[in-house]
Amino acid sequence: MNKGTLLQELEIYRSFLQYSDIVFSFHSIDGDFTYVSPTSYPLLGYKPEELLNSSLYDFSHPGDRKKLKDVCLTQSYKRVKYRFCRKEGDYIWLETTLIPYCENDEQKGFSCISRDVTNQIATEAQLEENKEKYRLLVENFQDTVGIITKSGHWIYINDTAKKLFGVTRKEEVIGKSIFDFISPASHGVVKRQLLQNGIKEDVEFTVSRHDGLKKYVQVKLIPTTYKERETFQILIRDITEQKKTEEIMHRTEKLSVVGQLAAGIAHEIRNPLTAIKGFTQLLKKEEHNDNAYLEVMLSELERIEDIVSDLLILAKPQPSKMEKVDIGLLLEDTVDLFSSEAILHNVEIITEIELADPYIKGESNKLKQVFINLLKNAIEAMPDGGTITVSAMRTSNGRVVAKIKDEGIGIPEERIPNLGEPFYSTKEKGTGLGLMICNRIIKNHGGTISIESEINKGTTISIFFPSFGPSKIPANIK
Ligand code: ADP
Ligand code: MG
Repeated sequence: MNKGTLLQELEIYRSFLQYSDIVFSFHSIDGDFTYVSPTSYPLLGYKPEELLNSSLYDFSHPGDRKKLKDVCLTQSYKRVKYRFCRKEGDYIWLETTLIPYCENDEQKGFSCISRDVTNQIATEAQLEENKEKYRLLVENFQDTVGIITKSGHWIYINDTAKKLFGVTRKEEVIGKSIFDFISPASHGVVKRQLLQNGIKEDVEFTVSRHDGLKKYVQVKLIPTTYKERETFQILIRDITEQKKTEEIMHRTEKLSVVGQLAAGIAHEIRNPLTAIKGFTQLLKKEEHNDNAYLEVMLSELERIEDIVSDLLILAKPQPSKMEKVDIGLLLEDTVDLFSSEAILHNVEIITEIELADPYIKGESNKLKQVFINLLKNAIEAMPDGGTITVSAMRTSNGRVVAKIKDEGIGIPEERIPNLGEPFYSTKEKGTGLGLMICNRIIKNHGGTISIESEINKGTTISIFFPSFGPSKIPANIK
């Protein structure tokens, strides 16, 4: 750049000098001040003559010095932000436009137009900091937060959304329609809310994920403008756990009512039962009656007594008498109890006990009750007869599993969750207590029940007992 043009530009820049927040300066190639505008005093604390012949670099913050030097020597217009040490010793941020001064293609020096941008930088830093804070807050918010278009397409989601929708990358959601993630049954309610321009109160719906999991959510839509588009901010709260807890509480409440009811009935039955049993025993003794019927009556009465005490368990858990039980023998015994009943219903019961070590820890009376209930259900599921297979084996991880398999009417899939609920019965004369008692007893044994069923093909109920090898049976159990 020649001196002529430089002078022309100087004229332009001279007009800047009236602004006290702009300093105009000339420098030699070493950075020494050769001219400084009077505004240096209000801005930098130095009068121009105090700066002359000292180097600009000496006033810059050590951390910015190299950057500044590089820019000053690049032989082109450049803008740079750096910290300048004022006479009072504090730093201010200057934004400087550098104009190199060259002669015969060789840089001889440069001029600077510098502006105080301290406030602006502070504001920018503050904004950046706030932005980061809000970003972290939104990304890690325990609720899903997102932005959707008026038609329901995702524009933005936070990190939490990935967990809700079961995806690993946000791209798997962004651009897609919100309806791709909602159970069809909930489409209507969401569509309505989009049309009504947002939700006055929260709505609940179900999210169905690609992995088959269902999540209950509560949603709020707030109309908002995003990048000059009319959109909705969407807030989704996962209430699956809450729903589960409510369900459990509901069940527990029902159970305790049943418990009280059962206890009441059991008490009422017990008294006449004691009388009948007593008189039957008397009959047998007094008349030296060896009638086989009396024997059967007595054993059946004992069973009723056991069942009645089971009903009492529902009300208050009794101390259990855990002992070493041969589960194979117990299953065979239970099946024997059903021999006449099976013939009556044209049912064949096959046992397949494959246990080298048949022992588990449990209460044989209670376990018998479980298998009685299950066998009863199996027979009742086959009005036209069929085969029931009772099997027991050890699983690969050492647990004992007992299975009752029938060829009956089966249970519709959606009904399975209801099984074990008190009074849930599909039978005209059913009580809906059988499976509940089974659940209760198996739970007390630390076991689990699983149900597999196919309509008109049959049902298999599997009971898993905790792993318990012979050497692991504690010594205090006989
Ligand atoms: P109840 O036998 O008095 O009905 P349960 O608790 O024993 O009560 O059984 C509840 C319900 O579960 C039955 O009414 C029946 O609908 C269903 N169920 C149980 N076991 C079977 C089975 N093996 N096959 C088909 N349905 C079954
Ligand atoms: Mg039953």
